[in-house]
Amino acid sequence: MSRPTKHCMICGSGNYRRVTGRDNWKIYACQTCTNAFTVPSPTTDRQYEDNVFYGMSAAREARWRRSAAEIVRFISAAGCRGDLLDVGFGSGLVLEEATAAGFHTVGIEASHPAVVSAQSRGLNVREGYMQEHTFHPNSFDVITMSHVLEHVADPRSLLVIATMLLKPGGHLFLSQTNYLGTLPRLLGPRWYAWVPNEHYSHFSPQGLSLLLQSVGLQIKVVEINTLFWDWMVPTKLPIRYWPSAFLHNCAVMVNRGRIGIPFVGDNQFVLSKKKSV
Ligand SMILES: [Zn+2]
Repeated sequence: MSRPTKHCMICGSGNYRRVTGRDNWKIYACQTCTNAFTVPSPTTDRQYEDNVFYGMSAAREARWRRSAAEIVRFISAAGCRGDLLDVGFGSGLVLEEATAAGFHTVGIEASHPAVVSAQSRGLNVREGYMQEHTFHPNSFDVITMSHVLEHVADPRSLLVIATMLLKPGGHLFLSQTNYLGTLPRLLGPRWYAWVPNEHYSHFSPQGLSLLLQSVGLQIKVVEINTLFWDWMVPTKLPIRYWPSAFLHNCAVMVNRGRIGIPFVGDNQFVLSKKKSV
């Protein structure tokens, strides 16, 4: 695989370095904005219509619900209240947790099975993509996107739409992986969150902030945490995964203690705000 000939999809820079890679995929980091991108790019961002998020095991649902609850905890602690739109709601667990916490919720999701599942549980949802829907501008106090932005070819366009839909002073919440965390640095291509067949982008905390600021949002809170909140039990894994399990558990320990050491965790919560006037 030769070096990419195109420019950084976020900032347009042609200055980048190779981070990692395996088989026929490579990850390059932009030297200007620090966001990274997959080469070759995933073939399309319209591949989620048939994704199934329900019917998971009880243990998996418990793990995902924990992550959803952490998101609602985070935005509530930052003072978010009112009308909430969850983009790419998937399992619908963020919508359920937010509804239970008192938000007025609506979700949008491309996956038809996910929409059917959410509707059967009484959630207020719409099927399709953000570009296709006519939510009114200035409608939402908070918009949440958990691991959505990396799946689209043009993340800035999605952020522009989201910003338009926020009320003045409203908040945009993002949960994204952090490829600069200790775990991905040490695990290299074995890090479980590269997903090169689906992820166009891999956002750094600094790069994500620059991207949000480029659409007029102000950064309010950044929390570095872990993608998964549960322990990995080494005895349940092949021995070659024990180093990964050890590192993961260190990150979970840091995370649960809310010590907040920069660059340790492999995930980031970022809350940004639309100007009030
Ligand atoms: Zn860049």
